[in-house]
Amino acid sequence: MGVADSGVVRGGQAAPDLLIAGAGVAGLWLTVKAARAGLSVMLVEPGTPGCGASGGFLGALMPHSPERWNGKKDFQFRALVDLEDEIARLESDTGAYCGYRRVGRILPLTSERGRAEAIERTADARANWGPRFSYEVNHTPDRSGWPDMLRAPHGVVCETLSARLSPPGLIGALLSRLAVMPNVELRLGAAVVGIAHHAHEARLSDGSSVSYGHVALANGVGAFALVERAAGLPAGSLGGGVKGQAALLDAGASPDLPLVYDDGVYVIVHENGHVAIGSTSERDFDDPSGTDDQLDEIVKRARKLCPLIKHAPVLRRWAGVRPRAVGTDPMLGSVPGAPGVLAMTGGFKISFGIAHRMADCLVAAITGMEGPETPLSFAVDHHAAKAARKAAAG
Ligand SMILES: Cc1cc2nc3c(=O)[nH]c(=O)nc-3n(C[C@H](O)[C@H](O)[C@H](O)COP(=O)(O)OP(=O)(O)OC[C@H]3O[C@@H](n4cnc5c(N)ncnc54)[C@H](O)[C@@H]3O)c2cc1C
Repeated sequence: MGVADSGVVRGGQAAPDLLIAGAGVAGLWLTVKAARAGLSVMLVEPGTPGCGASGGFLGALMPHSPERWNGKKDFQFRALVDLEDEIARLESDTGAYCGYRRVGRILPLTSERGRAEAIERTADARANWGPRFSYEVNHTPDRSGWPDMLRAPHGVVCETLSARLSPPGLIGALLSRLAVMPNVELRLGAAVVGIAHHAHEARLSDGSSVSYGHVALANGVGAFALVERAAGLPAGSLGGGVKGQAALLDAGASPDLPLVYDDGVYVIVHENGHVAIGSTSERDFDDPSGTDDQLDEIVKRARKLCPLIKHAPVLRRWAGVRPRAVGTDPMLGSVPGAPGVLAMTGGFKISFGIAHRMADCLVAAITGMEGPETPLSFAVDHHAAKAARKAAAG
């Protein structure tokens, strides 16, 4: 569908081909991709774009481990490979800078068993990642560039697929791109609060209604409730939020240092030498945006892991709530029983690496154009079945 053909007329008003709830990394990529494909888009956001889980500063783009290959791992792998070109295109279109670099990653090995498992994975990586990226076990971390790495008595895994970007840089670039697209309307200060899918109409928090061709629920943790209501599923069944806390350190570190990942602790050097450290994973929390001693503990572990940052001052502490679907994989595609309603959420810890590809899947579903295959485990149906099994098990 071309721009000129788009804009179905409903109730005397031109309705957008695609109404999108939420201007986080998911909704912003979807807006840009849908508009590039010629759809008219209205993006609705109650706060400022990027004010949700996408408002942090980690930006790790790390693959799942290469063994026991499945649809999700394949989807993420292809997304991580493609992202390099996607970012280059976005930067060239906007002149904005996303702080992307494929720096690789090291994983310290702390037991002989871990080392043996890592050695087994090298063959899986060769088979599933192909020849462009390596996954090797080294005796010492010296080659990584990180000096004095202490906690690696059994060597380190060095892999070259991982990358990082600047989350604020990417969010800013996507916003710059959509700001000059004539077929995009950004509506700030309003939330999608209800969907009458039979009428193809969404109700907004400012009392207005918007007719649409399709509506995409890309509003992070909030999307689960809207999807549940549209599909007639029990409240709270499809997913929820997992809080994470992170810190940013002024370390003057070299920007080509690889990411470090050890048992839930990430250390990520950004282009300006700042080092981002994360993250807690909290299912129970009272204050979604507060930081506390759990973050102090993560920072302590990171400093022990990488003595280079031992005395680096903390610049910022931050917390956000990641969307996590009941089936653990992302949630993407048609909402059963609600024609025209699409889900795009549940990226949990990997959204920055896959949101562009999730967007391609939805644009293909809407336009009928060719696009990537959506793994079956991402389907709303799949998550609903998991929720039903969970409920049956009590
Ligand atoms: C500490 C921490 C560290 C992380 N590190 C990484 C990392 O290194 N790499 C990585 O890939 N991921 C990471 N993540 C996860 C990643 O940030 C999230 O998965 C991602 O930001 C989710 O994006 P989203 O667009 O789905 O949701 P969000 O960014 O939460 O965006 C949802 C938007 O929808 C808006 N909204 C809410 N309700 C409505 C409504 N009713 N109507 C319209 N709009 C609405 C919100 O205001 C918000 O702007 C991290 C998360 C945390 C918390």
